[in-house]
Amino acid sequence: MDIDGIKGIGEKTKELFNKINIFDTGDLIEYYPRSYDVFSMPVNIEEIDNEKIVSIIGKFNGRLVPVIKGRNKVVSGIFADEKGNKLQAVWYNMPYLAKTTDISLTYVLRGTLKRDKLGRITRIIQPEIFTVEKYKEKLNSLQPIYSLTKGLTNNTVIKAVKESFRLHTDIIEFDYLPESIRMEKNLISKKQALKDIHFPQNESDVIAARKRLSFDEFLMFILALKRLKSTDSNLKNNFKIEMSDKTLEFIEKLPFKLTTAQNKVVEEINLDMSGEKVMNRLIQGDVGSGKTVIAQIALMNTVFAGYQGGLMAPTEVLAKQHYNNFTECFKKYGIEINVVMLTGSMTAKEKRCVYKQIADGSADIIIGTHALIVDKVEYKNLGLVVTDEQHRFGVMQRKNFSAKGVNPHILVMSATPIPRTLAIILYGDLDISIINELPSNRLPIKNCVVTTDYRPKAYNFIEKQINEKHQIYIICPMVEESDNLEACDVVSYTENLKEIFGNEYRIEFLHGKMKAKDKNNIMEEFSMGNIDILVSTTVIEVGVNVPNATVMMVENAERFGLAALHQLRGRVGRGGYQSYCIFVSGSKNPEKLKRLEILNKSNDGFFIASEDLKLRGPGDLFGIKQSGELIFRIGDIYGDADMLMEAGDTAKLIENNKNGLSNEEIEILNDMVNKYTIDVLARVNL
Ligand code: ADP
Ligand code: MG
Repeated sequence: MDIDGIKGIGEKTKELFNKINIFDTGDLIEYYPRSYDVFSMPVNIEEIDNEKIVSIIGKFNGRLVPVIKGRNKVVSGIFADEKGNKLQAVWYNMPYLAKTTDISLTYVLRGTLKRDKLGRITRIIQPEIFTVEKYKEKLNSLQPIYSLTKGLTNNTVIKAVKESFRLHTDIIEFDYLPESIRMEKNLISKKQALKDIHFPQNESDVIAARKRLSFDEFLMFILALKRLKSTDSNLKNNFKIEMSDKTLEFIEKLPFKLTTAQNKVVEEINLDMSGEKVMNRLIQGDVGSGKTVIAQIALMNTVFAGYQGGLMAPTEVLAKQHYNNFTECFKKYGIEINVVMLTGSMTAKEKRCVYKQIADGSADIIIGTHALIVDKVEYKNLGLVVTDEQHRFGVMQRKNFSAKGVNPHILVMSATPIPRTLAIILYGDLDISIINELPSNRLPIKNCVVTTDYRPKAYNFIEKQINEKHQIYIICPMVEESDNLEACDVVSYTENLKEIFGNEYRIEFLHGKMKAKDKNNIMEEFSMGNIDILVSTTVIEVGVNVPNATVMMVENAERFGLAALHQLRGRVGRGGYQSYCIFVSGSKNPEKLKRLEILNKSNDGFFIASEDLKLRGPGDLFGIKQSGELIFRIGDIYGDADMLMEAGDTAKLIENNKNGLSNEEIEILNDMVNKYTIDVLARVNL
């Protein structure tokens, strides 16, 4: 049912839901909470440690008074805790509170705090009001927190989810996972899992629900992959491609020497592409290890052997960067290879022109986003397809791309630090090459973890770096201010910076909701050195390469998974300059700071992710997703690694028909796999 079929959801709210990709009530059931909030013991104001949502116990210092502020009907009152510390409580559009609140009673207020410029707590916004008895009933229960967008409140989502549960008893009751597997793996029913993921009574509910849902997701993924694999494993090599002399010459001319690890991978690729069977290879190499040049070498060999090669990137920004990099490089070395670009934001006319070149074979290397795999594109003789940042794509997209040719070679590149055992389960159909070495000209990045008090010093440092002609990234977690989160948002942060730094420097912002054209422009300007400071959300995380950038400052670093932070810091230290990473924690909580300190200790992405988990323990798993794997809604390859292994085992049994499932059970599972693959395709909409 369409989302506006729910009572109380009108045109406006519907639009807000659509903004966060919720279109019907089924979507809501799978819109899992981002985190949970505990109704913890109420505290006095001075005990508050930087938490955003708190429960404070006390009394009103007089009547609540209505104020008219613009079109908003505001009620406010002074609330004092037991020690006499005061703050102002403010409610919008609830004028009746002035009448219904009995100021002789003790209340618990639960809401979002606002601070003044000096960090002092001054107000609590739109708090829920509980009598002490009512609050006791709720004590220690968990409240789901959903990702929101401006204008949409957590309560609206909660209500809508509850209503969807009422409407969809059929979907919820139906469990496709055979009873025998559930028993063996000790998993709760799907119905229970869905209920408990949204509305758990306690933490162990969440853990059990998460276990079941991530198992499902991994199992579907692996089964989908196995099905695709069975159709094309052991295929004959239709495109025998050797290392060309012209490519060797190019490698000689490069301004750097390939690392031993790079050379090894180049060799592995050569053996594959010139061998009897088609190549299916995954290159895993940490950020900055130099994967692009390896892809370039393979693509050049493909072209010199008389075929076309494609390179697909997850974002337009990255595609554009690869395109510029390739064309400039070929021009510089006088190599006659025609590189074309194909992205979603090009005009129909531009696209037609490129389609033609791809079809008649005049385009040698085709670089683009998923626009490369739409039906309209016909390749003349596609011999190699490369996907960059594989973890950002679904399996199907990779397959669709390869289906564009007659079993072309496949090379996928990923910087997600997955340990080999897990990579084999996840990408079981691929041979794996690992680049475990960074180019030798790199200076180790200097890291520091600081609290917000340090900001002025950080800005001074940034200014010095700019004066040395370097460039700066500043990362904020959100695009626009939302009701529930006070995380810095790029737009207002940029305004603020401009005020601080004045007109002398060029400061711009970048976020996922901008038009592709605008994003490309900003990125291009940044890589040309025309922008000094780029304030961005994590859209910058994938693959962008600007060696002149030397400082990465991450605001609200405590909100990110350490693995994601590690990827982010990979945007600096990509040239020969000393680079710096400043992680600014919005919280002074020593535990949170300690977690961030892990980043100082190691440069090994997987070590970082697993240390993170050890520190936080399973109960805290939900708060922060480790990696940017878009293909999984809930499963986290680090946090749920055990479930991934279990799912891998189960998939193997199912594949070999060794777990005694009935035909009906298998059929139901197969249906789910189909649905899953389509769903993933629809979701990975980049
Ligand atoms: P990633 O593996 O993260 O995709 P890139 O391929 O973008 O990394 O490479 C990062 C930077 O390192 C690029 O500027 C590239 O030219 C440079 N680079 C690649 N290989 C080497 C090398 N062997 N020595 C020095 N610099 C290198
Ligand atoms: Mg890259």
